[in-house]
Order: sequence, then C-alpha cells, then structure tokens
Amino acid sequence: GKSSYKWQRVLLKVSGEALAGDQMQNIDPKITMAIAREVASVTRLGIEVAIVVGGGNIFRGSSWAGSSGLDRSSADYIGMLATVMNAIFLQATMDSIGIPTRVQTAFRMSEVAEPYIRRRAVRHLEKGRVVIFAAGTGNPFFTTDTAAALRCAEINAEVVLKATNVHGVYDDDPRHNPDARLLETLTYHEVTSKDLSVMDMTAITLCQENNIPVVVFNLNKPGNISRAIKGERVGTLIEG
Ligand code: UDP
Repeated sequence: GKSSYKWQRVLLKVSGEALAGDQMQNIDPKITMAIAREVASVTRLGIEVAIVVGGGNIFRGSSWAGSSGLDRSSADYIGMLATVMNAIFLQATMDSIGIPTRVQTAFRMSEVAEPYIRRRAVRHLEKGRVVIFAAGTGNPFFTTDTAAALRCAEINAEVVLKATNVHGVYDDDPRHNPDARLLETLTYHEVTSKDLSVMDMTAITLCQENNIPVVVFNLNKPGNISRAIKGERVGTLIEG
C-alpha cells in the first residue's frame, strides 16, 4: 500500500567499508543487525526497500589490479563475488529477525541466490520483501555505486540512499580541516565540476540523466538509516 512518506520505494546502497565498522573482521555483525532492524522498521510502514551491497571490505578490484599482476577484469570478478558474501550475510541477518529477503545476483549463482530478474525484483518489493542486489552490475570496470544507480532506475525506485561512514559531503576534508562544513544540498553539476568524492562519475551521471536524487548519510548514527528511508533530512541531498 501507499505510505505517507516522501518515498514509496528506495534503493539503499551499503558500501563494504560501512559493513566493516571498526572491527578487524570484514563484517561487523552489529552493523548488519542495525541495518536489518532499521530496514524492518520502515518496511512495516509500507516503504519498499531494495539494497545494493558493496564489497570493498573484502576485495576491491582496482586496488589489486596492476599491483598484483592480476588483470583488471579478473580482479573485478573477485570484487563482485565479494559483494555476494556481504549480501548473503545481510540476508541471513534479516532472516534471523523475520524480515523476508531475497538476494538477486547480476550473474548466475543459482544454488545461492536468484538471478537478477527485474520484474521479479519488483514483485518481491510489492509483496513487502527486501531485495538485495549482489554482484554489482555483473560487469568489470564498474562499481556498486553504478549498480545502485542502475538498479534504482530499473525498478523505478525514487532515490539512492548512500549509507557511508561519513556524515555527508563536506566542502573540505573534515579529517584534516576542523572547519570543513557539511553541505546539506548539492546539484549534480556541483558534484561533478568540483570533483567531490561522492560517487564515481559513471554513477553520478547515471543518476543525473535519470533525475534520481542521491542522499549521502552516515549509517553509524543510530536511527539514520530509517530517517533517510523515511525521507527526513540527513546528510547531503544531491539533485537537480
Ligand atoms: N565490481 C565490478 N563491477 C560492478 C560492481 C563491483 O567489477 O558492477 C567489483 C570491483 O572490483 C569493486 C568490487 O567489485 O572494487 C567491490 O565493489 P565496490 O568497490 O563498488 O564496493 P564498495 O566500495 O561499495 O564497498
């Protein structure tokens, strides 16, 4: 049913780094549980939630290619497989608290998850299930941010909510400049022309071309994920 919130259907992007928390392990179960609980709280309100997970906590293709002699495509396929590990972990966590969840992979891994089928993904969402998209776009040389923008456009979600370890986009690096200001709103043009490190160029232009707003926010602040999904003001909003 229709919810009375700002968005009816959202695409939540969770980076691998965010899943790692401050743990030495690749995944912090406290983080996945926090995500599961907050997502549960909003699906109960009737908001449909699809998730794209990153894999940088386990393997990042670009940093292995070259240095290791690994070709970029092979490295990227390993990176995509890493996102599947995160997806299954997150799904199991959601399962454990009773949230119906499906994982769909961009390349076939039929024993482990459904293949990505757009109409089926939409059907799951309509039935109140959370859909986790894994393996990025299925193509090397892309990122899971681009996968988030792509899946968002495909399933007609209204916004990409990018959950990160920072509060949003700043006018300078807050780790080095204590006076750096959090920018509450930005245009796509400002992001690309000032080379603000929000998303890679492919991802941000895909959002721009399809008029998909992007919210960058900190998932470590309790309640922020549900606030972002409900359309409350958090972090930085990028649009128009
Ligand atoms: N990747 C890819 N194609 C995609 C998405 C991801 O090749 O469409 C690979 C790439 O090697 C990337 C890795 O998967 O480094 C993990 O994804 P990403 O770096 O986007 O994860 P995040 O930064 O969100 O943790």
